[in-house]
Amino acid sequence: MTVGTRVSDTSGAATTSSRQESPGGLWDSVKKTAVVIGSGILFLAAFGNSLTWHLQRFWGASGDFWQNLWTKLYVMFEGHHAALFFLGTMLLPTLTHWAVNALLLLVDTTGKPSFITRYRIQMDKNNPVDPVKLRHAIKTVTFNQVFVSGPMVVVVYYLMTLRGDPCGPELPTFHWALMELAFFSIVEEVLFYYSHRLFHHPSLYKHYHKQHHEWTAPIGVVATYAHPLEHMLSNMLPVVLGPVILGSHLTSTSMWYCLALFSTTISHCGYHLPFLPSPEFHDFHHLRFNQCFGVFGILDRLHGTDSKFRQTKQYERHTLLTSLTPLNESIPDTPKKGQ
Ligand SMILES: [Zn+2]
Ligand SMILES: [Zn+2]
Repeated sequence: MTVGTRVSDTSGAATTSSRQESPGGLWDSVKKTAVVIGSGILFLAAFGNSLTWHLQRFWGASGDFWQNLWTKLYVMFEGHHAALFFLGTMLLPTLTHWAVNALLLLVDTTGKPSFITRYRIQMDKNNPVDPVKLRHAIKTVTFNQVFVSGPMVVVVYYLMTLRGDPCGPELPTFHWALMELAFFSIVEEVLFYYSHRLFHHPSLYKHYHKQHHEWTAPIGVVATYAHPLEHMLSNMLPVVLGPVILGSHLTSTSMWYCLALFSTTISHCGYHLPFLPSPEFHDFHHLRFNQCFGVFGILDRLHGTDSKFRQTKQYERHTLLTSLTPLNESIPDTPKKGQ
């Protein structure tokens, strides 16, 4: 699963599209990563306080609303916390997943509306998507949801109850929930990157990961189209481990599962849509196989597994689209002469 957000360009002018990157060693990568993280810390130090102050004010105004809602659920499910946990960690994320994918599938299967299809990354692919291939993918995805994700969430519940009740009466504070999301993202980046790279080892690839890569131009629903073992170790484990480590509340766990499923769907969807995280990074992984293994790109930068990606048009387009002009129009594949 991937949460496709760009981190690679926060060093600003240091990286220009035309510049050819020298191969550089690990030390070079560490220095670049330090620049990226350092600028991030400086930015947070400068604007973090006022940002969290505004967010906290918003939370304070709506906090009572959420706490009241939770208290109602808490009372309603008194003595049935396991049921409440499974509704929050299975039903809600599954509904979110299929709601988003149903919309995307409408576009994938009909090739309409053209307002959306003009944002397609690999223009000549899935236009429309092959129905036989799609049916097979949906069957596998459903199998993984029922027979892999389901039992894993049951195990997660029992592990979490060892730490206390994940369905406690008090909601976590806003700041703690933010910290948790940051921690979950780091755990996901590390575990996904290394397990994913391991699945690319030739001896594992042909038995397990090749299936996910049948889609060289992915669509949203194939985010969890994978061998069950890969789904367990590489898709689920990096996401479920964070809340287990922190002994998180059901609400932050549920929110994180929904967010992770939404993000991996977007990073596989094949459309670089406005105001959504860029899917170029993972789309490039499906296109080229040996680049862009991680979620946020931090470990790819550190290990140099994004070196080829960073010399491509896709890399130039790998940014949050804040206008309605598709990036394959504003940054075309082959620039016209004279430009
Ligand atoms: Zn993928
Ligand atoms: Zn892969």
